[in-house]
Amino acid sequence: MSVMSATQGRMFVCRLDFDSDLLDSIREIAEERGVKSATFTAIGAVKNAVVGFYDQKERKYRDLTLDRPLEVLNCSGNVGMLGEQIIVHAHITLSDVEGQAYGGHLMKGTRVFAVELVMKELTGIELVREFD
Ligand code: ZN
Repeated sequence: MSVMSATQGRMFVCRLDFDSDLLDSIREIAEERGVKSATFTAIGAVKNAVVGFYDQKERKYRDLTLDRPLEVLNCSGNVGMLGEQIIVHAHITLSDVEGQAYGGHLMKGTRVFAVELVMKELTGIELVREFD
């Protein structure tokens, strides 16, 4: 276990652009404002989604592509650094017209219909990622 103490820095309330890539948009919000550590939550709707499931045996993500409009019931995650690069780690829960839920690790390729996001910057710590 690793426990760190952080303070909340700036808070950003965002509406993402129609047709933008969800994962890229979250990274851009942090990048353009010099945010190196943060947590965020988002709700809204997407035009399609690509989520991943981490195969613990194979040690790689298996993609699931959902090529239809979906509600974003919740998307949450964190922003950290890998070297000089900002890394966004996000998980997402989605639902379809039947109320059927899907979810997983948010992958590139998920296109925004309308998404509202709140990002809370963490100061006093650095979320640094390394290869395990
Ligand atoms: Zn994940």
